[in-house]
Amino acid sequence: MDHQKIITAQQLYFSSDETKNIVFRKAQLKKLKALLIANEPALCEAIYKDFKKSTFETYATELSLVYHEIDTAVKKLARWSSRQRVATNMANFPAKSYIIPEPLGVTFIMGAWNYPYQLSLAPVVAAMAAGNTIILKPSEIPVHSSAILAKLINEHFPPDYFTVIEGGVEVTTGLLKLKFDKIFFTGSTTVGKIVYKAAAEHLTPVTLELGGKSPAFVLKDCNINRTAQRLVWAKFLNAGQTCIAPDYVLVDQSIEKEFLEALKKYIQQFYSENNFENYVQIINDKNFERLLNLIEPNKIYFGGNHNKTERYIAPTILQNVSFNDKVMQEEIFGPILPVITFTDLNKITAEVKQHPKPLSCYVFSNNTKQVEHLLHTLSFGGGAVNDAVMHISNGHLPFGGVGNSGMGNYHGEAGFKAFSHYKSILHKPFWFEANMKYAPYTSLKLKLIKKLLG
Ligand code: NAD
Repeated sequence: MDHQKIITAQQLYFSSDETKNIVFRKAQLKKLKALLIANEPALCEAIYKDFKKSTFETYATELSLVYHEIDTAVKKLARWSSRQRVATNMANFPAKSYIIPEPLGVTFIMGAWNYPYQLSLAPVVAAMAAGNTIILKPSEIPVHSSAILAKLINEHFPPDYFTVIEGGVEVTTGLLKLKFDKIFFTGSTTVGKIVYKAAAEHLTPVTLELGGKSPAFVLKDCNINRTAQRLVWAKFLNAGQTCIAPDYVLVDQSIEKEFLEALKKYIQQFYSENNFENYVQIINDKNFERLLNLIEPNKIYFGGNHNKTERYIAPTILQNVSFNDKVMQEEIFGPILPVITFTDLNKITAEVKQHPKPLSCYVFSNNTKQVEHLLHTLSFGGGAVNDAVMHISNGHLPFGGVGNSGMGNYHGEAGFKAFSHYKSILHKPFWFEANMKYAPYTSLKLKLIKKLLG
């Protein structure tokens, strides 16, 4: 397939201005939603083949978020895309000033494997809402999900507007050499750097949704039971293969024992041994081996069981962990939860600050002062107080990283902005001219200009 030909066709279509029409954009968004709804059983089946994930989880963590993004965009599109009036300064009197949102053009969206629909389609919704054309490359790793996305979209959308290109590193490397008007990438920090470099060659703006080690602070005055319940859900959802999963826990030493027991209780309650119905497989053998290698047997507090044929790793809690341990050297991205104790919150916070800025951070505490201090002193993409992961479900909260965990954000209006340029216009009438800016420059003009501009 000649990818440049697709880009050229999309450029041509974009220049017809059809995608800028609000009615058109809404129709495309509704069409996408109808297509997904009509094919829900097949979409769920594909995810099951890739992950052994239940229909419940596929709906809750993949499709519902995309539907919600579509509904919000359809409802708010007219307002988001309308020109915004802003004040005009005295030097330009009389005039009006406004900002016109405009689509960027041909966009390239690259998805990650862990939530193949949501991570590919939520940016697509934003790109569509903003009036762009789209080339989507889902991750090649979940083969069935990638294939069904390509089939559905390529059968129902014209390629000069929206097309899916499947493929791995080679295909992506080729695509990244071409010129796009926007690249939206979700994936690892390592590949994020490759994408950023390639984009720089064409001065293409990028959004990078990357990963990192997201900490969860568990302070001594939290509700231990509720904290454990929420953390177990957040960590072992999708078998820990979630970019905003709490990567590790920092718990006040005085409550460690009670907290560990509560974690164990909820793991037993949610996931009985070898229960594949409510639990997800590790995506492939490579990740299965990588994860097993992170489990130091003498540090297992609970779990550790695994089954290679099923690519199953039980929810695993590690205790007596320190920042020097193997499991703390990379993003875990699997069902292993290291628990580190602390006695001095300031010291442990200083330690966290020495590491790259994470995508998320969670604080569990009833102590407002300490919560506020942590939110103030730590830099991270986004997060939650007394909960974990759920902030992603609130479309009013822009979602994205900072530093090593990414740049830019999306969801709701933030997504629309990520795929738009805001054109600033000063609009003057002809009937008045102050003549102050023109030569000859007199001392009176200087006085007046100092007053106006000073
Ligand atoms: P990845 O970086 O390996 O792959 C992401 C995309 O990049 C895929 O489409 C893949 O085909 C492509 N790719 C891989 N290697 C490439 C190369 N050398 N050159 C060009 N393209 C290449 O990431 P992944 O394994 O799919 O996902 C896991 C990572 O993504 C984790 O770090 C996780 O935290 C992060 N992530 C972040 C978010 C977020 O929203 N911020 C969401 C999910 C995952």
